[in-house]
Amino acid sequence: MSDTTYAPSVTEKIFQQEETNSRRHDTLALISMRRIWKTYQMGAEAVHALHGVSFDVHKGEYIAIIGPSGSGKSTLMNLIGCLDTPSEGEYWLNAKNVSEMDDDELARIRNQEVGFVFQTFNLLARATALHNVELPLIYGGIGSAQRHEMAKKALSAVDLSDRVMHRPNELSGGQRQRVAIARALVNHPSILLADEPTGALDTHTSSEIMDLFERLHAEGNTIIVVTHEPDIAKRAHRILSIRDGLIEKDERVK
Ligand code: ADP
Ligand code: MG
Repeated sequence: MSDTTYAPSVTEKIFQQEETNSRRHDTLALISMRRIWKTYQMGAEAVHALHGVSFDVHKGEYIAIIGPSGSGKSTLMNLIGCLDTPSEGEYWLNAKNVSEMDDDELARIRNQEVGFVFQTFNLLARATALHNVELPLIYGGIGSAQRHEMAKKALSAVDLSDRVMHRPNELSGGQRQRVAIARALVNHPSILLADEPTGALDTHTSSEIMDLFERLHAEGNTIIVVTHEPDIAKRAHRILSIRDGLIEKDERVK
């Protein structure tokens, strides 16, 4: 009987991961994670959401992180985006050791280095597109004239120059997500990080948003998209598959 579907055993997966684990962090990489564990304490039980993950991301890469529900995708994205710190392991972002940062340093590096895009857009409902995009600049302490200028430019980069004074409920789903992308990019972060960015959109609009990501990548942005949809993942140049808190596969697809 021939066995065509070869699935590596858990031991083999851990073995593959050990190879990267054993190397020192990559000082030239934009992101370098080594032996990252995330453990949640649920009463008496410890839930290991990540089991010693190691990988590197270089500037200008376009990566999809895929995996079934509960595999640890959002946990990993929260760590990459400096929203949370690992229970164990080393995380270097732009040559800074994030794993040793306190909350203030973490907030600062997040504001400087990371642009977030979420499934449900997370826009301020009462604020105009322009004001939504200006928010990260307000936190960054940038004055109002320069803020306006930068926000308008970011909205123009996502083809929304004609919707600057619209509020979220006056925009379509795709337009709302484009406002969120403008907000993510207005600070010129070193990574654009998106968690299920098309999860709330129809197929046609999803495809338009993915075209925009492709363009942003061609313009030099480093992009990481977390998704459970194979069609969305296929747009990336490298796919990291995670399962049970481990990287199961790391493939270059373009
Ligand atoms: P995914 O995004 O791939 O669906 P998550 O990263 O959200 O997966 O979750 C990975 C595992 O960690 C799951 O078993 C989930 O139940 C658990 N988990 C995630 N966040 C928490 C939390 N805040 N507290 C406890 N357990 C959590
Ligand atoms: Mg998730």
